[in-house]
Amino acid sequence: MPIPTRNDCEQWDEADPLASFRERFVLPDHVIYLDGNSLGALPKATVTQLKNTVEQQWGRDLISSWNQHDWINWPLQIGAAIAPVIGAKAHEVLVCDSTSINLFKLISAALKLQLPSNRYKIVSERNNFPTDLYIMQGIAELFDTAVELQLCEKHELLNAIDDHTAIVALTHVDYRSGEVSDMAAITRHTHEQGGLMLWDLAHSAGALPVELNRCEVDLAVGCGYKYLNGGPGAPAFLYVAERWQDHLPAILSGWMGHAAPFDFALDYQPDNGIRRFSCGTPPIISMAALAEGVQLMTQADLQTVRQKSQRLGDLFLDLVEAWLPEHFDIVCPRDCNQRGSQISLAHDEGYAIVQALIAHGVIGDFRAPNILRFGFAPLYLRYVDIWDAVETLRQIIFNRTWDDARFKTRAQVT
Ligand SMILES: *Cc1c(COP(=O)(O)O)cnc(C)c1O
Repeated sequence: MPIPTRNDCEQWDEADPLASFRERFVLPDHVIYLDGNSLGALPKATVTQLKNTVEQQWGRDLISSWNQHDWINWPLQIGAAIAPVIGAKAHEVLVCDSTSINLFKLISAALKLQLPSNRYKIVSERNNFPTDLYIMQGIAELFDTAVELQLCEKHELLNAIDDHTAIVALTHVDYRSGEVSDMAAITRHTHEQGGLMLWDLAHSAGALPVELNRCEVDLAVGCGYKYLNGGPGAPAFLYVAERWQDHLPAILSGWMGHAAPFDFALDYQPDNGIRRFSCGTPPIISMAALAEGVQLMTQADLQTVRQKSQRLGDLFLDLVEAWLPEHFDIVCPRDCNQRGSQISLAHDEGYAIVQALIAHGVIGDFRAPNILRFGFAPLYLRYVDIWDAVETLRQIIFNRTWDDARFKTRAQVT
């Protein structure tokens, strides 16, 4: 296979069926943004939508907006818009809280449901994302000796799931290696053992087609600010399969999940359906931004998004292998079917190299202890961007540009 030229990349961009999406985002000049997996870019429509929500709705219509602009139902409506992106039914998805809080709510609820049948184990992977681990550790402490958290390596996972397993909680695309787990097979195995299955879709939703219903997944959570382009700290989403909605307890039993919040009754009565998993008042301004990001995302065909994402990743790896052989360990799967929408390279000077790249207009990120991570958001990245990014990386390595004190001081956020 000949090494792709910049000219090849330009031709692929011309033929790209998603090319027209790029101009719908605000993207700074002279920046190649390979971090849309951590914070998606700003859709231009979001700027207008936020102005409208603030000035017209909040500013002019004040509190009547809860009815007049249906603010009260935005968590359900935006959830319904996310549903097809993750293979769920419209009434199975709710936008609320953060991914961390939604993990807490759903894992605790699953335990409450399963404990009476002597199912007391939460099973997960030792390499799961830290907040997922911390939340599970906190839940295990809260339930005291009644609950056991079992963390295992990927290859031990299936054996760890047994008839004491209450819930298996995993992340679909590994944030470090980019590896995609087999959602269908693991969910099936969990069900055969009588456990409930939760998937964290933080690095999946909007990056690749997810089939929650087809895989018969029970529970899921995911982020609004990554591939859904909902803005910094955007509300997250949760999914509860229809069959569980009226059986799972609402652990954070706030008034927005009450069957009739404006009756101001003294006792908690959970709503039926997905709304019971709400807690407090929804953050409307953040929801307005998320709605635009989701709306833009859902106009793209996810199979096309996935194909482009795989080609962008393969192009990146082909160029790294051709131009920088033996400089990096490729720690993501080489086979694009096993890989999410990111490339991960290991290098002992990873932090400094990422900082040098950022100083030269290529934004990726660093994940301890030694991983350079590059995410590909197919709606606004071009093939030439990948070519230029790897060319910049090549120069930084060959000129040892990274070997400079100013690139070695760790910032608070990496
Ligand atoms: C990004 C990410 C989160 C983020 O959780 P927040 O509550 O939004 O901070 C959670 N889980 C995974 C797997 C992630 O990649």
